Amino acid sequence: MNNLSLVIESKQQLKCINKPIDDHLLPDEVLIKVHYVALCGSDIKLYKGQYTAPHRYPIILGHEWIGEVVATGISAESKWCEKDLVTGDCSIYCGSCEQCKKNKNLCERVQKRGITIDGAGSQYVKISSKYLYKCPKTAVTRPYVLTEPLAVAVEGIKKIGSQKLSEAKEVLILGAGGIGALSAIALIDQGVSNITISDVEEVNIRTIQSMGLTNATPIHADMTKNVSEYVNHFDLIIEASGNENAIVSSLHLLRSGGTLLCLGHQNSIHIDFGMVIKKSLNIIGSIGGTGGFQEAIRIIERNEKCITKLITRMVPIDLVQHFFSKELDLQKNVKIVIEMN
Ligand SMILES: [Zn+2]
Ligand SMILES: [Zn+2]
Repeated sequence: MNNLSLVIESKQQLKCINKPIDDHLLPDEVLIKVHYVALCGSDIKLYKGQYTAPHRYPIILGHEWIGEVVATGISAESKWCEKDLVTGDCSIYCGSCEQCKKNKNLCERVQKRGITIDGAGSQYVKISSKYLYKCPKTAVTRPYVLTEPLAVAVEGIKKIGSQKLSEAKEVLILGAGGIGALSAIALIDQGVSNITISDVEEVNIRTIQSMGLTNATPIHADMTKNVSEYVNHFDLIIEASGNENAIVSSLHLLRSGGTLLCLGHQNSIHIDFGMVIKKSLNIIGSIGGTGGFQEAIRIIERNEKCITKLITRMVPIDLVQHFFSKELDLQKNVKIVIEMN
């Protein structure tokens, strides 16, 4: 079977290549026809040669995806039906190490789909049943391509704990891109209000505004440059901007006893650690969405239309190569989604 695949061969080299696939399946494997793949910051960094965590070239990209079941291996038969809508884990865990018992994203042998092993950026993929999640049967399939990044937000928010969430009177989300916007939706879903969400990119703010989130106020500003106005103001900050000043500024913006959840910036930075102690701050890091998929799917079910608005650009597979080489930096987008079939 012909199988167009999006391969990052090396820095700045993306090719759409036919990688034929047969229909032989291992007992627990599922053959999936991929509908959509969403791009995230790490895909673009991988393409630009700026990705700092472990990765591999050449690699088929794609860890945010949605597709339908075409065929199942013998032991996966009872779990899946043809045409079931599915998405799946980015963290490919072993399931048997000590770390897996606590958090599969931290598996000692973890591989990342689309980063260290081939991703879902092919027209057809074979994936072990244990890494798959069923999405509801719906006419609106597109928002479910964002299940993985929403699961990343859900997993991070889970670590804050329900008590701190219910006590948070003023919440700030730094960055209104995919993870920031999805964090806002996940917080609102948990009953959190008084959320301020800031970004310097106009398209991100416009998109959030168009979503009409009643408990989140978008502001078009660089909060890292506005520190004095909001010093000691927030109980909870979610860093989803990737801006290196965001964490440093957050320490000033937080009230004593406040919590900072870090989902964005990943490179090394210098912070005033004394302030963490003196203000008794809680700093939480979180990576990976495994553990949060079911919840993410339920949140999308309740917010299908609103989440679809985050997709600001659709690119058909035959134009992807051109898009990466010529258009990637021309226009800012919240989420770019590739139509695979
Ligand atoms: Zn991602
Ligand atoms: Zn493991």
